[in-house]
Amino acid sequence: NLSDKLDKAFHILKGHGKITEVNVAETLKEVRRALLDADVNFKIAKDFTTKVKEKAIGQDVLTTLQPGQLLVKLVKDELTELMGGDVAGINLSGNPTVILMSGLQGSGKTTFSGKLANYLLTKKNKKPLLVACDIYRPAAIQQLYVVGDSIGVEVYSEPENKNPVEIAQNAIKHAKANGFNVVIVDTAGRLAVDEEMMNEIERVHKAIQPQETLFVVDAMTGQDAVNTAKTFNERLNFDGVILTKLDGDTRGGAAISIKSVVNKPIKFVGTGEKMDAIDVFYPVRMAERILGMGDVVSLVERAQEQFDEEEARKIQKKIAKNEFGFDDFLSQIQQVKKMGNMKDLVGMIPGASKAMKDVEIEDDAFKHIEAIIHSMTPKERSKPAIIDVKRKARIAKGSGTKIEQVNQLMKQFEQMSKMMKMMQGPGGKNLMKMMGG
Ligand code: GDP
Ligand code: MG
Repeated sequence: NLSDKLDKAFHILKGHGKITEVNVAETLKEVRRALLDADVNFKIAKDFTTKVKEKAIGQDVLTTLQPGQLLVKLVKDELTELMGGDVAGINLSGNPTVILMSGLQGSGKTTFSGKLANYLLTKKNKKPLLVACDIYRPAAIQQLYVVGDSIGVEVYSEPENKNPVEIAQNAIKHAKANGFNVVIVDTAGRLAVDEEMMNEIERVHKAIQPQETLFVVDAMTGQDAVNTAKTFNERLNFDGVILTKLDGDTRGGAAISIKSVVNKPIKFVGTGEKMDAIDVFYPVRMAERILGMGDVVSLVERAQEQFDEEEARKIQKKIAKNEFGFDDFLSQIQQVKKMGNMKDLVGMIPGASKAMKDVEIEDDAFKHIEAIIHSMTPKERSKPAIIDVKRKARIAKGSGTKIEQVNQLMKQFEQMSKMMKMMQGPGGKNLMKMMGG
């Protein structure tokens, strides 16, 4: 699925110290392929990757982060933007509020009408009325009654009347007379877009002037969903999109394309056949779902917030000039500590929590290290090479540690400096590794 593919794409970047034109291009080629596979429109996928590329190149890679993670964040932010950015609410003005459902047959209009009624009843304290305007199949009216019964919402129908405009108008009168404050009009759909259906829904739309005209679309239909959305929007200028059947393994591509093509927000998603399988559409969550990397993203965000970029740059320079000392080491530790509880942080790295399950991570894992460094003189900190046996004994005594612990720290520091030099970055990752043993 899309998540796996993107996962693979980001792997390309692993191990690189910097985002460069070359590794970004490689990764984004994979990202584009993954988006296309998920039924995202070709032009949208291309524009998308171009935009991410422009933003990625030249970005400083924070020292604790893999460039891949930074790119994940950029991709997530762009995806979120592409899907509308903020949550689009539903307009509940009007007394009663009139909501019209449109869409092809089988898209999930009747099911969603019930879900929305249930949502407004239980979450928004509304008194909704369901209206059966699918006049072509008797079974359709029956289906709406079954739905209404299951959630305790009244259904309005006129089985003998073959005029959906009249039925809808009468239903609104009925609602006004009986204290219903929301009227949800379920309509007939066809298997494909046709003129008769379009004329009919257009007439109903004109007659009842709904506050919300919602276009319901089956997320599983991929690129077809986008074309249908375009046609309905040209005729109805609808207010929002409902993406149904987003449960299971459904590809999320339609969500990305529809928003960009019709420029109307996705308001809700359907995630199952039951009446409570309805979710407000959150662009950022959808982006995370598509990326399948929510935890990585929050780790990156946390690190970006907490990490002192200026400090990181300074240290990078020192390493390059071979001037990295214990003072810098100490400030690195303080940076890592600012990021919060080590156990939480490790838990956010995919796979790491499992791998480190047997390793005891103490929150005060740095305590001894800090004590030892504090017992060093400034000269010793900046030129660790001068620390001989005598000095080590003094440091151990001053910090209340054993000389073996001082030795161990010296050795780890040496290894780390070497490693960092190779990576051209100080890398909190190594600190973590070090603490693990
Ligand atoms: P309509 O013709 O547009 O009114 O579509 P229906 O509401 O009758 O739905 C068609 C089929 O899709 C029914 O079998 C529903 O149970 C199913 N369905 C609707 N919404 C969802 C959903 O979000 N997830 C799943 N899995 N099935 C859905
Ligand atoms: Mg129906």
